[in-house]
Amino acid sequence: MEKAIVLYPSEGRGHLIAMVELGKLILKHHPSFSITIFVLNTHSASTAQHVASSTAQYIAAIEAATPSITFLHLPPISGVPSTLFPPELMYLVPRLNNPNVHQALQTISHTSKLKAFVIDFFCDAAFEVAANLSIPTYYFFTSSASSLAVFLYLPTLHKNLDKSFKDLNHMLIDIPGLPSIPASDMSKATSDRSSKVYEYFLDSATHMAKSNGLLVNTFELLERNAIKALSDGLCVPDGPTPPIFCIGPLILSCNQDGDDHQYECLNWLNSQPSRSVVFLCFGSMGLELFSAKQLREMAVGLENSGQRFLWVVRNPPTDNNDKEPDLDELLPQGFLERTKDRGFVVKQWAPQAEVLSHGSVGGFVTHCGWNSVLEAVCGGVPMVAWPLYAEQKMNRVVLVKELKVALAVNESEDGLVSAAELEKRVRELMESESEAGKEVRERVSGMRDAAVAAVKGGGSSHVALAKVAELWFTSTSTSTC
Ligand code: UDP
Repeated sequence: MEKAIVLYPSEGRGHLIAMVELGKLILKHHPSFSITIFVLNTHSASTAQHVASSTAQYIAAIEAATPSITFLHLPPISGVPSTLFPPELMYLVPRLNNPNVHQALQTISHTSKLKAFVIDFFCDAAFEVAANLSIPTYYFFTSSASSLAVFLYLPTLHKNLDKSFKDLNHMLIDIPGLPSIPASDMSKATSDRSSKVYEYFLDSATHMAKSNGLLVNTFELLERNAIKALSDGLCVPDGPTPPIFCIGPLILSCNQDGDDHQYECLNWLNSQPSRSVVFLCFGSMGLELFSAKQLREMAVGLENSGQRFLWVVRNPPTDNNDKEPDLDELLPQGFLERTKDRGFVVKQWAPQAEVLSHGSVGGFVTHCGWNSVLEAVCGGVPMVAWPLYAEQKMNRVVLVKELKVALAVNESEDGLVSAAELEKRVRELMESESEAGKEVRERVSGMRDAAVAAVKGGGSSHVALAKVAELWFTSTSTSTC
């Protein structure tokens, strides 16, 4: 019987890509495995049509190039209220899929030896399904080791604090392996202990601690302190910590986007001087879109910075995520004309991984999504950290204070980032005489080399993945399907 691994990513392009890259790497170590990737079939409001179609092309390209990877599309779930807070929705959809997951795992087990079930933390509901079937279950944590430390430490914080993070304002929260995090910078999903999503997070933290192992998309040199705290068991003080495997950075390999678009912005980058362009792009989810006012502030800041820029612009929140932005209407009058010799504005979507690995890009203004961070690190591109949602405010603290690969953008009380603030940070990041910029440029360049070394034969991530793949290959555990 064939040896099989099942991977279960959650919704979100970043989560899917990281899981696919994991599948490809497992096959490098053991080409005889068959890999099945479960794909959630959702039509959430946060997934705009251009993202959905780009993801479908991506899946088709992977299937064509890698026959040992099969995608199993789970049936659509009806009646999910799309108005739910996004993380709650991301937990709920897999939960409603449990019967389908149960059936799919059983079907696979009839023809293969199921060696491991690797799930995203949002797919935590499947942990119990797998436990009932005695399938060894691992979590693939597609965010940072620092976020994982917070996650695993959440039950301890829950016990030690008597208030929600949202009521602790700027009180500093101490988590093993991390700089102190203001309570107001903790993930919005965990800010209210009476919420459903907080309960989901607590449950997943508890399950993760009981799983067979945790794979993390990071590498040892990047997050040394957080990884050490995790491995030393400091984040789960009340019990054993499962083995931690830092196997990253797993990022989208360039040119494998599955998208056969000829992106004009790449041609434009070819004509720009080395490391001269600042790239601005804020994730795939279409959550927390910028207001029209914020877009205008950004335009003024960029224009006044005098720097070359490549900027991905989306519409402010509307009923129709797919409507193309009307740049003439959104941006200040004459902006496009005045900046045409040094700026390029892309509507909706850019091939980010390729952009960040292009030699003309010298800085990145990012929402601090972990895949974006890793893509920047792999391109040796320093960042301005402008968090928008999920755990991104916490990522900003870690990127600025601990990893020292980013400068923080400061928003005003109402959340707006002024033109002057953006101009200041972009100048600091890009201008050669800026000391702050020099520090993050040097630091990220060292991290790029460390990332290359980590995934090479004998590197820390290569060794960790070889270890876990071997464990799966040789394990004798059999499911009760
Ligand atoms: N992305 C892209 N083009 C865009 C926006 C995003 O290719 O215009 C990709 C980006 O390269 C990354 C992923 O989408 O791989 C976003 O993942 P991340 O974890 O950074 O953020 P999320 O979208 O999950 O908030």
